[in-house]
Amino acid sequence: MTFEELNIIDPIAQALKKKGYTSPSPIQEKAIPFLLMGRDLFGCAQTGTGKTAAFAVPILQMLHKKEEQSGKRPGIKALILAPTRELAIQIDESFRDYGKALTLTHTVIFGGVSQSKQTQALRRGVDIVIATPGRLLDLMNQGFVKLDKVEFFVLDEADRMLDMGFIHDIKRIIPKLPAQRQTLFFSATIPNEIKSLADSLLKNPLQVQVAAVSAPAEAVKQTVYYVEKGDKNALLHMVIEKELIKHALVFTRTKHGADKVAKELNRKGISAEAIHGNKSQNARQKALTGFKNRTIRILVATDIASRGIDVDKLTHVINYELPEIPETYVHRIGRTGRAGESGIALSFCGSEEIDNLKDINKLLPKNIDVAATHKFPVGIKNVARPKPGGGGGQRGGFRNSNNSGNSGNSRNAHPARRRF
Ligand code: AMP
Repeated sequence: MTFEELNIIDPIAQALKKKGYTSPSPIQEKAIPFLLMGRDLFGCAQTGTGKTAAFAVPILQMLHKKEEQSGKRPGIKALILAPTRELAIQIDESFRDYGKALTLTHTVIFGGVSQSKQTQALRRGVDIVIATPGRLLDLMNQGFVKLDKVEFFVLDEADRMLDMGFIHDIKRIIPKLPAQRQTLFFSATIPNEIKSLADSLLKNPLQVQVAAVSAPAEAVKQTVYYVEKGDKNALLHMVIEKELIKHALVFTRTKHGADKVAKELNRKGISAEAIHGNKSQNARQKALTGFKNRTIRILVATDIASRGIDVDKLTHVINYELPEIPETYVHRIGRTGRAGESGIALSFCGSEEIDNLKDINKLLPKNIDVAATHKFPVGIKNVARPKPGGGGGQRGGFRNSNNSGNSGNSRNAHPARRRF
């Protein structure tokens, strides 16, 4: 299947090609034809499935066709709501990229920064607005935003909106939209509240459910290094140098930890920036842009700050510290191995993190591979050894770092497991 076969017009199909998209992802293949027919959509899909293009492409195409037929009309014609600034910015960038050859205008609106640039853009007039709910509502209340011309409404990551407490804002925004519109609703999970919100918004929707492309076991090669806390910086440096890692997202558990790791890397001549909640939105955006255009080699992030970070062709994710919530591990490593590319996830596990590793392994289809040997072996006294001969004893167990090749887990083929 090609984008042309989905009846995507040439200027958009060419832009997709330029982005390196050779064929539509499953959600794009399923959703785009129905969206072009004007149907509502309920998409149960996570980030990483190509859902942004699944809605951005048909919206651009339909708006472009209307513009061709009846000329440019004033007013916001498409509204996309996203839970975080980072996600909103990424969606805006997608509209920019896919619609490069079109004359449609777009802008992104989010809180935490001065509103003047945003209100200026709105005054000039835009066709497509991508917004986080709080700031949008603010600007609506101040009279800068009118939604009475909206034809397309997208609610992205609805479950996260609910988690983040935005549902009340959303419920205040919705009545300002025209009843006659096409609505697209995306959520990775469907708790009851999401189900009833979707029911109240959608008319006879097409339901599309797709699994994340980056199911970790398939797309991402995962390796864990047992290493004591005090050796993690040295191991990180060594892994980056020895594995010739050009670009990696490194996760720490705390903001302070993120700063320390970035500082230490810079001291060793590896360009790194930290992003976390204590940094201003501008500093975070600057670091993210530097990382995306590869002037910054390593981005060190906490989980909250990293939400929505989406970097094309990210090859490596490094868990400098393991997360306490096992699902967070899956989210972290899902940043690599996107859209059919392969990725590598390396995790550093100190002796005090063994329980976290056990919980993560329980969640995965198979245990994370253990790096055979490296320069920073863990002191055996600290190691919780696996039960001798115990059924399933490997699961999350702390293997002696020298016992590779005898466990039935022969994973020597993977480059990330090269011996130091
Ligand atoms: P999303 O789920 O929208 O966050 O997209 C995940 C990643 O997949 C992004 O980096 C997109 O640029 C990329 N992507 C989206 N659609 C395609 C496609 N058809 N082919 C290749 N990559 C894609």
